[in-house]
Amino acid sequence: MSHQEIGLAPPPLSADTLRFLSPDQSNNAALNIRTVRKAEGNTDQATPPVSLEGLREHIGNCRRCKLYKGRKNLVFGEGSPVAKLVFVGEGPGYDEDLAGRPFVGKAGKLLTKIIENGMGLTRDEVYICNVVKCHPPKNRDPEKDEIEACVPFLKKQLQIISPEVICCLGRVACQALFGGDFKISHERGKWRSYGDIPLMPTFHPAYLLRNPSAKKQVWEDVKMIMQRIGLEVKTNG
Ligand code: URA
Repeated sequence: MSHQEIGLAPPPLSADTLRFLSPDQSNNAALNIRTVRKAEGNTDQATPPVSLEGLREHIGNCRRCKLYKGRKNLVFGEGSPVAKLVFVGEGPGYDEDLAGRPFVGKAGKLLTKIIENGMGLTRDEVYICNVVKCHPPKNRDPEKDEIEACVPFLKKQLQIISPEVICCLGRVACQALFGGDFKISHERGKWRSYGDIPLMPTFHPAYLLRNPSAKKQVWEDVKMIMQRIGLEVKTNG
């Protein structure tokens, strides 16, 4: 898969690529892809072929920000490329860095429970990724320059998958997609839009590990997501 095939110029990102990946443009591109996907048998070549594999190849052995220095593995994301639901976390933790997979540590196990026991799905049926693809040292929040370097790839993942719903796990993911300040305790449970894609902010599973009483609120948010993507919500669940 060449860089051109996924609609990206070779690194470093060209002005064109930056424009293509900019928030407004990526939202428009997401619209295009949804339109193409809905039109069965569409042979419109105006929208370049795109794939997650091609994007991963494009990212390569990334050194676009300082996080590469401490990483063991770049954690691109995993799940279904045609998922109806994408979960967006903050960045890989220690366990994820070792495994090269998102949300496999303690917080990840809780997210898996939410997906499997709460929603009745498997991890393979959704897509799970992060704002930054490399582990920030000592689990600190990713810094502005690191988010700026990496968020175009998250936006491209969302554009390629074009899910029915995005679920942002915690403040950092929301801030990365919308900019500005974000108070997750105020904003969780309220639908927003990322382009034409409904987005639900909720608490990060790591927060739930520290504040188990907030699980009730997350379950309320998850039920809204389930309804939106057509999953049955059991009333005693
Ligand atoms: N926390 C995150 O935000 N992402 C992961 O992948 C793991 C923990």
